[in-house]
Amino acid sequence: MRPVTRGLAPRTYRKYGDAIGDLEERLGIYCSYCERRLPASLAVEHVVPKSLVPELETTWDNFLLGCTNCNSVKLNQPTNKRDFLWPDVDNTMRAYSYSPGGFVDVADGLTTTMSRKAKKLMDLVGLDRHEAEGRPAPAPRDKRWQQRKDAWDAAVLAKARLAELNNAPAAMDLVLIAAEGFGFFSIWMTVFADHPAIKRALVQRFKGTADDCFDPNFDPVARPRGRL
Ligand SMILES: [Zn+2]
Repeated sequence: MRPVTRGLAPRTYRKYGDAIGDLEERLGIYCSYCERRLPASLAVEHVVPKSLVPELETTWDNFLLGCTNCNSVKLNQPTNKRDFLWPDVDNTMRAYSYSPGGFVDVADGLTTTMSRKAKKLMDLVGLDRHEAEGRPAPAPRDKRWQQRKDAWDAAVLAKARLAELNNAPAAMDLVLIAAEGFGFFSIWMTVFADHPAIKRALVQRFKGTADDCFDPNFDPVARPRGRL
């Protein structure tokens, strides 16, 4: 899950819905949880539900961007900053692993505590829902897994083509255009794990990516002031 930084509040909001444009400007038109690109249907997502803590309803630091599927699983489930990892606080790039077929899992090698927090966020939005047997079942309209699978396949194909073209700058640019078009930052970062130039460009081009979550090779590192 892409670690993001929304920056300081651009202004105050009378209604939370008024923040959508500023959020899209800062974070790009991607769901903060499932990472899909959604040009027209993202909603202002409250990290802590407004129904539970009404005073956070119009607070910029409580906002992310959410898609219908992530929102409809999360609904008004109680959350807090302590028991869950969050993409605006932690390096959630280290929390999950993405694999062919559209699968997402809690990453190996985390401490028990971090693994539990990663799982809590995964369950909160149903990030690992997949039609495959043995996985939590998605709702009929929930095709996040299918879109992850498609993005993975596109990234693998793009990587092969890039190699055939000897990493020509124009070909690299096309890879990045494809990545921005699909979304799923983490999938592109995973498929291009051994390609620092592409990873650097992904971090730079996906607006709002927390660049302090990456080392000079653009591998994920502990987030300053985060827990992971
Ligand atoms: Zn989503």
